[in-house]
Amino acid sequence: MRIANAGGRLVLVAGAAGGEVAVDVEQASGGRFAADPQDVWADWAGFRAWGASVDVGATGRPLGELGDLGPPVPRPRQVFGVALNYSDHAAESRLEAPASALVFTKFPSAVTGPYAELPLPSDSVDWEVELVVVVADAARHVPAEQAWSVVGGVTVGQDFSEREVQLRGTPPQFSLGKSYPAFAPIGPVLVTPDELATRDALAMRCWVNDELVQDGSTANLIHPVSRLIAQLSAVVNLLPGDLIFTGTPGGVGMARTPPRYLAPGDVVTSWIDGIGELRNSCVAERAARL
Ligand code: ZN
Repeated sequence: MRIANAGGRLVLVAGAAGGEVAVDVEQASGGRFAADPQDVWADWAGFRAWGASVDVGATGRPLGELGDLGPPVPRPRQVFGVALNYSDHAAESRLEAPASALVFTKFPSAVTGPYAELPLPSDSVDWEVELVVVVADAARHVPAEQAWSVVGGVTVGQDFSEREVQLRGTPPQFSLGKSYPAFAPIGPVLVTPDELATRDALAMRCWVNDELVQDGSTANLIHPVSRLIAQLSAVVNLLPGDLIFTGTPGGVGMARTPPRYLAPGDVVTSWIDGIGELRNSCVAERAARL
């Protein structure tokens, strides 16, 4: 199953990229499920069962006619990030790969849609394409072997990072540097894990304009999705609709010589196989439409 946020309303999506059709959930369910995409996490199991009975291909309208795409999960209560979770990225950062996951938060106000503009607060903003996991069920002490059972779906995310603020001080300020407005675009759709042929080996890429800057696979996660959920839920109550940004592969701008950061006019494209892509245009902060 695929869902999206079209014009602020929850839709079921079917069809190949470019030719997607969609059904408005609130209308098709006769009001059983609300239009607000965040509300679906109140009864995810019920929604999955109902959604399976809808023939989206036969009854849907072109997705593009249903409004601009917003974040499939617009108001998560908790947004986790994981640092240094690919060995090539740890190596380019000249840091040792951590024995257990290094966790920070992206404040939920940074969440935005797949095609939102990125207002640049400085000339030190970097890119990080990431697989984002959406938690479906309230969860505590989930064993790794059962962790995928609490996952509602996955989506593409960008963990945009203002490196000067992020790395300022001891300890550094990861959460602040990664939480400027629009620093957490997600989308374009949420895909349930059963739709993915290889849920633990998804190819992922990031381009800045036409240049391929990151080319990885979630098969290379140091701490895979199952272990991240086990580790997080050993401490935190995971809540329905929470997001986990799982980490970025090598190829970020900070690691280049000289470093390369985003400038107004740059377009960042972030893609994961089987899910889709984000396209975020960089603008000077003052010119941005927040
Ligand atoms: Zn990251």
